[in-house]
Amino acid sequence: MTELSTNSIRLLDVKYGTSVDGSGLRTSIYCAGCEHHCPGCHNPQSWDVSAGQVYDINQLFEEIQKAEMNVTFTGGDPMLFPEGFIRLAELIKKNTDMTIWCYTGYKFETLMQHARRRALAELCDVIVDGPYLASQRDLSLPFRGSRNQRIIDVQSSINGRIVELIF
Ligand code: SF4
Repeated sequence: MTELSTNSIRLLDVKYGTSVDGSGLRTSIYCAGCEHHCPGCHNPQSWDVSAGQVYDINQLFEEIQKAEMNVTFTGGDPMLFPEGFIRLAELIKKNTDMTIWCYTGYKFETLMQHARRRALAELCDVIVDGPYLASQRDLSLPFRGSRNQRIIDVQSSINGRIVELIF
């Protein structure tokens, strides 16, 4: 894969008005690249780090602002290459009151041990963590596919006990 500039991000898609990637209507941003390769993954075409196309982060932020909806980072795994999402999350948090949800196949405790993934986590309001486990699949769960995945209140969980949100 060619190196991205610091103001670019590689994405599969951006969808406005989604209702399954977090509470309310949201702008969902689908990144390219995932190393978890969960059996039964709903979106295996997202595993390829070279898939999709390169977006300019400032232009993307302008579109997000225009949409006036809260934002979800998903994929793929946004935590695989966190730099572009850190830049985008900084713009969102500095200039709007939008909430950010982030889906990741890493467990929250693992993210906290990686400096740049932790930096991205700290800019988020909610993280839905852990791989999809087909053995724990549950279609009745809101906003996640398997029972091991947790909906975590990030700001309440950064420095201690993990606080899960119930929907
Ligand atoms: S973490 Fe998500 S995108 Fe990645 S393989 Fe697992 S289910 Fe698919």
